[in-house]
Amino acid sequence: MSILNTLQERSGSTCELCGSKDNLSMYKLPPMPVETVDGSILTCATCKNQLENPDAVDANHWRCLNDSMWSEVAAVQVVAWRMLTRLRAEGWPQDLLDMLYLDEENLKWAKATGEGIEEEHKVIHRDVNGVVLESGDSVVLIKDLKVKGSSLVAKQGTAVRRISLDPENEKYIEGKVGPTQIVIITDYVKKL
Ligand SMILES: [Zn+2]
Repeated sequence: MSILNTLQERSGSTCELCGSKDNLSMYKLPPMPVETVDGSILTCATCKNQLENPDAVDANHWRCLNDSMWSEVAAVQVVAWRMLTRLRAEGWPQDLLDMLYLDEENLKWAKATGEGIEEEHKVIHRDVNGVVLESGDSVVLIKDLKVKGSSLVAKQGTAVRRISLDPENEKYIEGKVGPTQIVIITDYVKKL
């Protein structure tokens, strides 16, 4: 029996992620070098397209993982883990992720593509409104700030141009107010 036939039998000819019966094909999980039954799942065109093109992801489509992440098929668990990790900023995927238990071996497999690793170590700075700040941005102070170790008060409304980000702490940015380089807490700035 071919791999595809075995997958069709395993899944009852439905997408193993969302249950659709349309345009089914095999999805080989990266980084598996060869096609195997255990390293592949049967997916519909919608799921497969979004798995292969992170830019095309429609988060709502993946609410289907609410059901399919409980599959006994390890490859389905692994795909669910990867997709939920990719989407976890949405909130609800993180909740599902908290419930999804992968054994050690499968978790290692799930992480093999590097999904999630980058984000765990990335410090993201946000202004008072939650807007992401990047190095080089300009911000405006939303309240008067006493500058530590000086008599200077940086006034509310002061623009701080070309900020730099503290790579270790998401709450700190630096920038010049007049001639003075100061450290500013992100809660007190708004991106311009
Ligand atoms: Zn699907």
